[in-house]
Amino acid sequence: MSKKQPLRFLITGGCGFIGSAFVRFLINKTNKIVFNLDKLTYASNHNSLDQVKNSKRYKFFKCDICNYSNLKKIIFQVKPDIICHLAAETHVDNSIHKPKDFIQTNIIGSFNLLELAKEYYEKKKKNFIFHHISTDEVYGELNNRDKPFTENSKYLPNSPYSASKASADHLVRSWQRTYGLPIIITNCSNNYGPYQNKEKLIPHMIDNAIRGIKLPVYGNGKQIRDWLYVDDHVRALYKVATKGKIGETYNIGGNTQIKNIDMVKHICRLLDIHIKVKPNGIKSFIELISFVEDRKGHDKRYAIDASKIYKDLGWKPRETIESGINKTVKWFLQN
Ligand code: NAD
Repeated sequence: MSKKQPLRFLITGGCGFIGSAFVRFLINKTNKIVFNLDKLTYASNHNSLDQVKNSKRYKFFKCDICNYSNLKKIIFQVKPDIICHLAAETHVDNSIHKPKDFIQTNIIGSFNLLELAKEYYEKKKKNFIFHHISTDEVYGELNNRDKPFTENSKYLPNSPYSASKASADHLVRSWQRTYGLPIIITNCSNNYGPYQNKEKLIPHMIDNAIRGIKLPVYGNGKQIRDWLYVDDHVRALYKVATKGKIGETYNIGGNTQIKNIDMVKHICRLLDIHIKVKPNGIKSFIELISFVEDRKGHDKRYAIDASKIYKDLGWKPRETIESGINKTVKWFLQN
């Protein structure tokens, strides 16, 4: 009897924050074969893969998902069992100033992948999954009394970023309904953890604080986000990719709703403990907090009801917000 071969994962955007955590997980914690395809935009960090890049089970391809012929060559060469699609433009502020890149990568790039996945699947015909990784921002914003988003919440995206991700979600869904492509979609809340790009809230605050410069908080800082430690997200992605039901959507979240201002103050208090000699004569990093003009179209609140993935796949987060933020602050201080 022939031995069962390990699954072959093709990860798009595997040099980004979440993608690289997923690649590290797959190499370090499983026996899977991993192909990573990334354009290496400013948001990527190839060093995040130093500990796995020499593995015999890992191979990297520099490729833009908007380049159809290159993409085709890679997919047909690596013969994946699963494509986990994470490549995207992800920073909401950039999407407000320069939406074109978001339309290009998040919509056209995703369309290219779907077309090629369909062609590949039609030849392969079995055991293939296209797993599309998306965000809770596609559901728009909640008021303080609203119930958290479920998989049945309406799509009401408010930023060019969330609208481009919502478009991709719709395309993915329709490629199953119309062409029978085996797909799964996951919509996750805000992630944080090691290697996140400094443009995002938590690393941005840590970086500014260490350098003794202002900590800009949008508007009144009362916007609420539902935070999840990146390694918890990655374990959820693995569960979904290997045990999820074709055609389903799974919401992923940490059930940890925090106002942005409270998150920033929490980081300041941790930095106060870890950094004895503070920059620019301040006594506490809280003194650096400064409220700035609110982001255009800024969503008030996101919150995820993740009970479906808890119940159906047995996943739940391992980190609490305290343990996760503590790990993250320590990591940024050491790196
Ligand atoms: P990131 O910005 O850190 O990384 C994105 C990666 O995609 C980078 O390595 C970049 O080089 C690559 N990329 C960008 N355009 C590309 C293109 N045209 N072709 C190939 N590669 C390209 O993003 P992230 O925070 O790791 O997010 C990964 C995915 O998860 C995204 O799809 C995002 O929408 C989704 N998501 C993120 C969060 C979060 O809080 N960060 C939450 C929910 C969902």
